[in-house]
Amino acid sequence: MPLHDFVYNARPARVVFGAGSLQHLEREVLNLNAQRALILCTPQQRDIGEALAARLGSRAVGIFDRAAMHVPMALAIEAREQAAALGADCAIAVGGGSTIGLGKAIALESGLPILAVPTTYAGSEMTPIYGLTENSLKRTGTDLRVLPRTVIYDPELTVSLPVDLSVTSAINAIAHAAEGLYARDTNPVMNLMAEEGIAAIARALPGVVADSGDLHARADALYGAWLCGTVLGNVGMALHHKLCHTLGGSFNLPHAQTHTIVLPHALAYNDKAAPDAMRRIARAVGHDNAALGVYELARANGAPLGLKDIGMDGAQLDRAAELACANPYWNPRAVEYAAIRALLQDAFDGVAPRV
Ligand code: NAD
Repeated sequence: MPLHDFVYNARPARVVFGAGSLQHLEREVLNLNAQRALILCTPQQRDIGEALAARLGSRAVGIFDRAAMHVPMALAIEAREQAAALGADCAIAVGGGSTIGLGKAIALESGLPILAVPTTYAGSEMTPIYGLTENSLKRTGTDLRVLPRTVIYDPELTVSLPVDLSVTSAINAIAHAAEGLYARDTNPVMNLMAEEGIAAIARALPGVVADSGDLHARADALYGAWLCGTVLGNVGMALHHKLCHTLGGSFNLPHAQTHTIVLPHALAYNDKAAPDAMRRIARAVGHDNAALGVYELARANGAPLGLKDIGMDGAQLDRAAELACANPYWNPRAVEYAAIRALLQDAFDGVAPRV
């Protein structure tokens, strides 16, 4: 393909990568010119939050351990108040997209620097995108203030992520890169990262499934998640993300599993409209077709394949298709109700994507 004109925005995050890299936590706090860190985590990850506090000693001024899905506004306000009351001069978000989202909600108001320590493959730490939920409505926006200043990627912290969630979280990451490859505002640098990110995850997953403590496989998966998250933070997303936002937001389906199930079908929908992107995705997953390759990657690693298996009600598919077609995101192929309804039926049934 000939090189087209593009705009590339480098995002200013510092990345510290490697098994055991959590040992650099204090150095990285000081590097932010900070002395008083508030640690954020979920109740389930309180033990990790405490381990970080122990490492920092007097430089940790508190732990806020109630991070929750979709960042409820009331919780964000409480966390902001706690940060202010403790005189925190940075926040450390250790966990998945929900915890990092809480850090972003604090930074949005206060400008407090965020140090992220991701423990899933969701990729939020690499994006300036935030979300806040109030009265059952999730509002998202983009603001460079919420982008974590430093990210410590320590594969050791992902070993405890259950294998089923590891697989779906990693395919969620692949979705960012796959859609980035056919984004309207794509650029050659993001394309490199996207293909490398998908390939790293595809080669990592069998190792993670075979042995969840395999640190080489965990490092590959986390490296891939970093690259895929960077793509999400740089270029626009399309049909697949619109479908998943609709299914997650209006039908309360779980985030990573929904992405995993829908992605092969969204790729099949766009197959003919984005041949260069499909070639790159197929090459990265080692298959001759992108959609079938991603479906096979999910199947071979034990992921759920049908929306019917994760709580979707078949009677809601018409409504889901209507919502997905209303205010569609830009997509390489026009978004048409009948074809989207058929796509959702396939995703519901868990059959192989139609290419
Ligand atoms: P999550 O953060 O909700 O975590 C799911 C559960 O797994 C939590 O209970 C958590 O404590 C637990 N967990 C996380 N890491 C673990 C580990 N290593 N070991 C054991 N348990 C662990 O899930 P997620 O998929 O990372 O994030 C999903 C959320 O992130 C969604 O709300 C999504 O919208 C958001 N997100 C935002 C962006 C963005 O750019 N703003 C990007 C991706 C995802």
